Amino acid sequence: MDFITLSKWIKKENGRLEKDHGRYSDQDKQIFACAIKLGEEFGELCQEVLFHSSLQRKSKMNKFKEENLSGEFADVLITTLLLAQEMNIDIEKALEDKIKKIDKRYEK
Ligand SMILES: [Mg+2]
Repeated sequence: MDFITLSKWIKKENGRLEKDHGRYSDQDKQIFACAIKLGEEFGELCQEVLFHSSLQRKSKMNKFKEENLSGEFADVLITTLLLAQEMNIDIEKALEDKIKKIDKRYEK
């Protein structure tokens, strides 16, 4: 999937989420809700990492499915992009700028 297709899908998903769940009239509350959702998804990814490394409690290990790990990576990326969109961050430019900055560290 290319970045333009992904960005279009994120806008579509944001519209569907707003239709199903509404949105706060206070934009800061909306941003906090998106940030909290990202935290929730990051927690779920961490749980799957623990499962993957067999570090999860034994009583929970029967719930482990390898496909959940990739799904949680996707959830973190999607919720990150939804938050960036809510905050009017041009994430493509942000990534390009950050990659250039990182690459410069190795140019010495
Ligand atoms: Mg999830």
